[in-house]
Formats: sequence, structure tokens, C-alpha cells
Amino acid sequence: MEKINILYIEGDGIGPYIMQAAMKVWNSAIDYVFNGKKKIIWKEIYAGKKALEKFGELLPQETLDLLKEYKIGIKGPLETPVGSGYRSLNVALRQKLDLYACIRPVKYIKGIEAPVKNPENVDIIIFRENTEDVYAGIEWEEDSKESNILIDFLNKNLGVNLNKASIGIKPISEYKTKRLMRKTIKYAIENNRKKITIVHKGNIMKYTEGNFRKWCYEVAKELKDKNIEVDDIIADNMFQQLLLNPKNFDILITPNLNGDYLSDAAAAQIGGIGIVPGANIGDEIALFEPTHGTAPGIKNPEMANPTSLILSGVMMFEYMGFKEVAYLIRNSIEKTILEGYATIDIAKNKGLSAKEYAEKIIENF
Ligand code: NAP
Repeated sequence: MEKINILYIEGDGIGPYIMQAAMKVWNSAIDYVFNGKKKIIWKEIYAGKKALEKFGELLPQETLDLLKEYKIGIKGPLETPVGSGYRSLNVALRQKLDLYACIRPVKYIKGIEAPVKNPENVDIIIFRENTEDVYAGIEWEEDSKESNILIDFLNKNLGVNLNKASIGIKPISEYKTKRLMRKTIKYAIENNRKKITIVHKGNIMKYTEGNFRKWCYEVAKELKDKNIEVDDIIADNMFQQLLLNPKNFDILITPNLNGDYLSDAAAAQIGGIGIVPGANIGDEIALFEPTHGTAPGIKNPEMANPTSLILSGVMMFEYMGFKEVAYLIRNSIEKTILEGYATIDIAKNKGLSAKEYAEKIIENF
């Protein structure tokens, strides 16, 4: 029997519950497709609250080292306190491992009640830059030594007139924009996609988002004879066009912040963030994760929807070349939901628990 080693981070909040349900589906699918000849050996690595309890730190070096060694992992959501406390571990993982492309496919699954009239028109892939922009984590509190030094420097040397304020820095570079665009184009070619739309706010932020647009177009010139259209749209218009004319969009490439907003908005359009998967991919390492967070609003975590995580696993299997496994799970999820079996957030009738829903998916293989 061939062993497939995969790392996983359970996650905080609903993480352990959806991870357990998802693993049942993934393990059974591998077993089903390979007739028991392949088996996943799951190795747990730690981040977030569980890491703090076990190792006294939120993101142990061992976790980063193992991800660098194994090159593939899947994670549940990790909590980030608002306003104060520690910085996002998700952002730290993406930056430290240079997982520069956040890929989120948003496609309607038949049978789900969505808030728009024609959710089946939504079939887009969002490519979000994952390491730069205001998410770079370079910011200082109002009246801190650092923000005062910076304001003083800007006022004296760069002709601005700033009073005391919290300050954040928004770096967007040619190198990091171009490598994302190249990855996006490669994906478009490999997946027979026809159009890439650059989403930006370059009318206002001319040298950051405006240059994001310019650098994407520069890379697009390399595309000449590939029959893929490239156009661009200003971010605020994108949000309304996504609602009004989703059919006009295929792949979106965006800087970090707008990509984050857009992926939740697009997910809501097809029924919620409980069903949309995600991947953070660099040149060497790939870490798959659901779009949603720890969902503290869900009173009983056993009832949380594991679809987003299961489908993130589907993306992982596709990435690993296990296309049949991916196909089996995706089809089975569609069949299960169409039959009316789902968790409460998307179920038309009584909602199943994550575990019961996973069992139904396996029954439907
Ligand atoms: P959230 O955890 O994504 O949850 C927002 C709402 O979406 C939930 O309250 C729930 O709605 C619904 N939802 C999300 N996941 C669901 C699921 N699997 N099944 C069913 N419903 C689901 O966003 P948040 O409340 O803004 O963030 C909570 C924490 O998660 C924060 O600490 C945040 O930093 C973190 N976060 C982590 C990641 C990540 O690890 N990549 C991503 C986003 C947020 P109802 O309450 O209406 O049921």
C-alpha cells in the first residue's frame, strides 16, 4: 500500500469539527478510488490555540519547517483578535512561506438556496495577491514613537501635512504583481479559461493599485496568441457588476484587500462562505484552507458546514494530480445537496450535523 503524507492544522473554533468530518470524506474517497492501495497518513502540525496550549506559542517554528519540508498542507480557520492582541496567523503563514497566490473558485452548487435570482451564472476564480498591500502588517498606533517619527519625516521631507494618526503602509511591487499575473495566466491556460479581469482602485491609489493594473497588462502582453482576453475594472464597480452581470467574469486578479472582500461577497452570492474553498499557493508550497473563519456565531460547532474545507481538500487533490478523487468528491457533494441533505446554513429542510452530512456524501460516492 502506498502512503500519502499530508500535513494538517486543525484550526480554532469550528475547525476541529469540520476537520474531522472532512477527513472522513477525504480518506473514504482515496480508499474508494484506489481500492485500498493508497492511504493518507495525516500528520498534525500546530498553529493557533492548540499550539499555544502544547508549545506555549501560536505559530511554532516546527510548523513552518514541516510545511517547508512536506510542501503540502491543509488547515482549518485560525482566530485573529480584533484591534489588539496578536497579528493574524493566517497572514503570517502566507508571508513566511511566501504563499503569494490566494486562489478561490466560486461556483454555484445546484440545490443551494442563494440570495440572487441566477446564482448559476456565478463561476469565477479569484486570484488574490496574498503577501502585500495593507495586509503586509506594517502599521503603527496613533501617537506611538514609530508613527510620530514617520509623520514627522513625511511632513518635513515629503511635503505632506499629517497630524497624529495611526499609520499603515501599502506596498505593492512590480515583482510580486507580475509573478501573480504569471500564475493566473498559467492557470487560465491549463483550465481553459477565456478571460482575466484586473480589479483595482487605480483611479485613487495611482502608484499602488494603478501600477498593479499596469504591471498585470505588461505580463499579459506575453499572452499574445493564447486567445485569453484581459481587461480591467475599478473595484467598486466590480462589486456591483458581480451582482448584476456575473456571467461577464471568468478569472479576477486583485490586490490583497479587495480580493479578501470580493471573495466573501462572491461566496455570499452563491449561498454563503460555508461552501467556498481556497488555496494559498507559492512557487513550492501549497496550503489549502476554507474561505471562512472560526465562525464564533455558530452556537453548536457540530452543526457547522464542512463543505468549504472538504472542497479545499478537493483543490488539494487536484493539485496533487488525484483528479479522480477530486471529481468523485465534488460530484458526490452536488448529489448530496441536490437530494436535500446539507448543514443548516444551506439546507432547505432540517440541517444535518457536519458528521452526518459527511456520511451522506460518502454514501453517495
Ligand atoms: P467567519 O468566521 O467566516 O464567520 C462569519 C459567519 O459566516 C459566521 O458567523 C456564520 O454565519 C457564517 N459561517 C462561516 N463559516 C461557516 C461554516 N463553516 N458553516 C456555516 N456558517 C458559516 O468570520 P468572522 O466571524 O468575521 O471571523 C471569526 C474569526 O475567524 C476571526 O478571528 C477572524 O480573524 C477569523 N478568520 C480566519 C480566517 C482564516 O483562518 N483563513 C478567515 C476569516 C476569518 P452565522 O453566524 O450567520 O451562522
